[in-house]
Amino acid sequence: MRIVRVDVSNEIHWGVLRDDTVELLSVPPFEGIVSSGRTVPVSETRFLAPVVPQKIICLGRNYGEHVAEMGYVPADSPALFMKPPGSVIGPDELVVLPPTWLSTHVEHEAELGIVIGRGGRFIEEADALEAVLGFTCADDVSARDLQKSDPHPTRGKGFDTFCPVGPWIETDVSLDGGLGIRCRVNGVLRQDASTAQMIFNVPFLVSYISQYTTLVPGDLILTGSPGGTLPLGDGDVVEIEIEGVGLLRHGVRDA
Ligand code: MG
Repeated sequence: MRIVRVDVSNEIHWGVLRDDTVELLSVPPFEGIVSSGRTVPVSETRFLAPVVPQKIICLGRNYGEHVAEMGYVPADSPALFMKPPGSVIGPDELVVLPPTWLSTHVEHEAELGIVIGRGGRFIEEADALEAVLGFTCADDVSARDLQKSDPHPTRGKGFDTFCPVGPWIETDVSLDGGLGIRCRVNGVLRQDASTAQMIFNVPFLVSYISQYTTLVPGDLILTGSPGGTLPLGDGDVVEIEIEGVGLLRHGVRDA
């Protein structure tokens, strides 16, 4: 099932995508899939980010190739950081590059996003997927110069618009064997990997994070980027495609 958040005539609704129509829901999907009985054509909707997270918890250094290209050594424990919820944008929206006096080097990072459903605290690894509603595609956009020059990644990772998410939450995903994860910029393949290459896997991460903070419905976990991250510029079109999940497209523009 593909869960969407859509704008219909300036009203925001949750819905379920069924071919070329959206069946609108009467309650948020975290409370159950309850149809409102109203269906609208996709052409009369605009897809919004399919999450309004209370928090976005991200993982660095989770693919060996990216660890190497960043000049890091693999971490013994998950390298967690957070992006502000206000950095989220939806499909086909624009990442706004910082003014050049702040940053001149911004890169894409294709990542599998975990959308928390039931959530909880002290979740056992064996129960982790039951706490998850589904998966989405995300771009952990990063001002690489600030990330490296600042003592902490907060600024480099946290600019407004630096978290494109979408196009929907896919609830029927099998992680077994890994999912292909790719990033194209202006049609040129830049990242091509498998989620099977993650150092810390999805159930472990949900469990690990829930040891320190309560995961609530709609929280978003970004699971780290494979190698191949490269600079973005004004006018670029970024496509992040995850096998069995979807394809997220967003633009880029100067400040
Ligand atoms: Mg990242």
